[in-house]
Amino acid sequence: MIQLDGKKISEEIKSEIRVSVENLILKMERPPHLAAILVGDDGASLTYIGSKIRSCNQVGFKSSLFRYKSDISEIDLIKKIKELNLDSEIDGFIVQLPLPKHINEQKVLLSIDPNKDVDGFHPTNFGRMTLGLKSFIPATPNGIMKLIEKYEIQTEGKNCLVVGRSNIVGRPMSILMSLRGKYGNATVTLAHSKTKNLTDLTLKADIIIMALGIPEFLKSDMIKKNSTIIDVGITRVEDKFNKKGYTIKGDVDFNSVSKKVKYLTPVPGGVGPMTIAMLLQNTLEARLSNLS
Ligand code: NDP
Repeated sequence: MIQLDGKKISEEIKSEIRVSVENLILKMERPPHLAAILVGDDGASLTYIGSKIRSCNQVGFKSSLFRYKSDISEIDLIKKIKELNLDSEIDGFIVQLPLPKHINEQKVLLSIDPNKDVDGFHPTNFGRMTLGLKSFIPATPNGIMKLIEKYEIQTEGKNCLVVGRSNIVGRPMSILMSLRGKYGNATVTLAHSKTKNLTDLTLKADIIIMALGIPEFLKSDMIKKNSTIIDVGITRVEDKFNKKGYTIKGDVDFNSVSKKVKYLTPVPGGVGPMTIAMLLQNTLEARLSNLS
């Protein structure tokens, strides 16, 4: 079994980004600037934002964090987004999801300028991606495509099963795998909670992308030999032996599945670090397109 080392590949991508930033500075240009909006104090969101900011520092980007209490109104949040849309010193920004229930997520995402939408969640970017046009691609699916490309995993004509249809992972992933191209051209099935007989599908799949958020859901008796398994899941599972009080688990039962497959992503150290690297990549592209 070959582990798809997202940690290593993401470090390589970050080094390349760092070189691009140094080149900008040599040309007396300012470095890319990524801003993030965080509403509330959800532990997982705080962790994700923390690593995004640390990664910005690592590659020489400027970063700004705008934090709001969970009772901020939708109107005030959109007002802030409109401010960031107009701020010429900010190349791209993200609104950390999930948002509190009283805020309409779609309305918020629609108010982001597509040229600054480095998460790739705006319908303009999503539509362009679907048509195979240049766009900001959501970071997690983009990171998975990068891993597939780096390890030269053959996708053409393969049966690819994506489990989970969220707008940020499963659905864009299913689109990217079915697009024309060397690392596309797959025959894609998109499964979700209403899918019947999921095991029939997992047993037929050459490539499975698990993005549902149920720890260790995929077991070795559900897959075929020599398949490729990408585990997107990140769930905090209570663990009183861990000083943090929890352990991170993926959607794949790593111990049993690893004995049967050809390629597998670990959790942590697989898709997670790639997600951050691709967010930085999108921000660099936003900065460079501002210069051209
Ligand atoms: P969502 O909760 O938005 O979506 C989960 C999807 O799984 C839904 O489409 C749901 O179906 C489907 N699902 C739930 N139960 C089943 C089941 N028993 N069988 C088949 N499908 C099922 O999750 P996200 O896409 O946002 O995230 C998925 C996981 O990936 C989470 O653990 C999250 O933390 C992680 N994640 C990791 C990232 C990374 O960088 N590694 C980035 C983003 C997310 P339905 O639509 O019918 O409800």
